[in-house]
Amino acid sequence: MQIPIPNSLATEQDLIRWLGTLPRPDPRVWPQGIGDDAAILLPNPGEDLVVSTDMLLDGACFLLDQAGAKRVGRKSLAVNLSDLAAMAARPLGCFLSLALPKGGDSRLARELISGLTEMGEEFDCPLIGGDTNSWPGPLAISVTVIGAVQKGRAILRSGARPGDWLMVTGLLGGSILGHHLDFKPRVQEARKLAESFEIHAMMDISDGLAKDTRTLCTASGCGAVLVTERLPLSPESHQLESISALGIQGKTPEEHALGDGEDYELLFTVSPEVGKSLLQEQPLGAVPISKIGECVSQGFWLEAKGTRSPLPETGWQHSWG
Ligand SMILES: [Mg+2]
Repeated sequence: MQIPIPNSLATEQDLIRWLGTLPRPDPRVWPQGIGDDAAILLPNPGEDLVVSTDMLLDGACFLLDQAGAKRVGRKSLAVNLSDLAAMAARPLGCFLSLALPKGGDSRLARELISGLTEMGEEFDCPLIGGDTNSWPGPLAISVTVIGAVQKGRAILRSGARPGDWLMVTGLLGGSILGHHLDFKPRVQEARKLAESFEIHAMMDISDGLAKDTRTLCTASGCGAVLVTERLPLSPESHQLESISALGIQGKTPEEHALGDGEDYELLFTVSPEVGKSLLQEQPLGAVPISKIGECVSQGFWLEAKGTRSPLPETGWQHSWG
């Protein structure tokens, strides 16, 4: 469903009035509707609340002129939903805080919120509160998402153990060609995995596979071996090999898959038995699950043609648009 955004959202009052006209979410979540000083959330009994927040800045995390306000609004919620996915949580609602450039036109807020609310519709994550302000600086957006997960069942980064298989969803690398703005957070996929398989540890890949593998395994007190030949390479990681305009020519598709940020896929570990079933069953349909390596007791390694070398210290770099 497309949510109609009014033409005049000149003031914060306009914005609140409009938000008040939006379809009300599940009454168990938000019984009183918008307009009070604070939102009330009522998760189901037996659930834990899961909260995450992310700030996006024009000029640092995106270029508003190039990306357009709607895509930026969409992304500002998507990155947060990706963090909920990493915990295998279901979204309850989101909060949006906006610092708008002073003197800008009201279209910016409108388009941004329309991008965000469309994403929210898609993932059952309504906008339930927030704050807007203007200042003599560039656009800054902070989104907070609230989710819920069955008590004690959130998946942490710290549960991996030596011998686990390292798995990823989807394809990796080259997000700068558009994926970093238009990706689909793996909310459903993560919940499906967590409901049917014993997942030991999980996170979303935002800073690049090599760096995030270190992060996850360090949190678990183990190391990892990644296998070059097993990396699921995106078509973009191949395309980038031949694009020199961005100043990043000379990297192989594998290097893009290891080092580029903003894949927003799931990185997780399972026992070899579960790993085998996942590879065989491919329970996520069109979203492939790949084994990319294994957890070891210590050290971080990259294996290529059977030879191990230290895993490169590549990681996230800012995107251009
Ligand atoms: Mg994350």
